[in-house]
Amino acid sequence: MIGKNILIVDDTETNIDILIDLLDDKYELLVATDGSTALEILAQEKIDLVLLDIMMPIMDGYDVCKHIRNNYNTEELPIIFITAKSDEESIEKAYDIGGNDYVVKPFKAKELLARIDTQLKLKTLIDNLERVASYDEMTGIYNRRKFFQLAVDVFKEGIDNLYAVMIDIDKFKDVNDKYGHPTGDKVIKLVAKEISKNICEDSIFGRVGGEEFAILCFKDSAQTVKEKIEKLRKNIENLEILSDNNELIKCTISEGIAKATNETKTIDALLKEADIALYEAKGTGRNRVIFR
Ligand SMILES: [Mg+2]
Repeated sequence: MIGKNILIVDDTETNIDILIDLLDDKYELLVATDGSTALEILAQEKIDLVLLDIMMPIMDGYDVCKHIRNNYNTEELPIIFITAKSDEESIEKAYDIGGNDYVVKPFKAKELLARIDTQLKLKTLIDNLERVASYDEMTGIYNRRKFFQLAVDVFKEGIDNLYAVMIDIDKFKDVNDKYGHPTGDKVIKLVAKEISKNICEDSIFGRVGGEEFAILCFKDSAQTVKEKIEKLRKNIENLEILSDNNELIKCTISEGIAKATNETKTIDALLKEADIALYEAKGTGRNRVIFR
């Protein structure tokens, strides 16, 4: 596969030469002659697959594999062991510590090529699946599932200066009823785009319902959050959206903000607080920001 980077890890020059001869015209190859160099390369380069020798001085292939698995799942980075060790125990151990495949030296060229190809195809499939499962098709931002998954991780890392914002497009049903669903979709896309433009890079932002969005962000002061979210509300209010019949549509959003405190036990509780604030914004006239 063109553009795929394979890292060869082997302490024997002749073994490396054989692999380079076989793979050089199909893949981008990087070579490490010891374990620690292999880990350094992995930290710096985007590698798609590792061909890993077992018998090496200082750090053997098993240790290298263990180190790699501390950072990558088996789906994220395939490791194929290539080794002269053909006993069952060695093979079992290789799979146990997270190897994806095992090839015994001397290997058949066609077989190794096929095994590499299979692992790379599998990785591409899994990557695509992960992308489809994580992003909202209409807006390109995180979907509900991915937003909550990331939100749980963020909450675990610490709640200092963590804020949750819930956003809902006001009277969105009316837009769909009056102008039709294609225009409704257009409104959702434009609102998502406007929110994306107005949030910080480290924020987590997703579409969590039909016309509902959620943001998690870190800010030093509540005032800064309020100002940013208020500015976002104004920007959306000022958007000039044309319906499919070229009628000008005005769109507004309601927003609820909540700050995580020591009493906030879970991410769900924090989002619930923001949701209550959002509900209050809706109940008191819409097109406004409520901070709890
Ligand atoms: Mg060796």
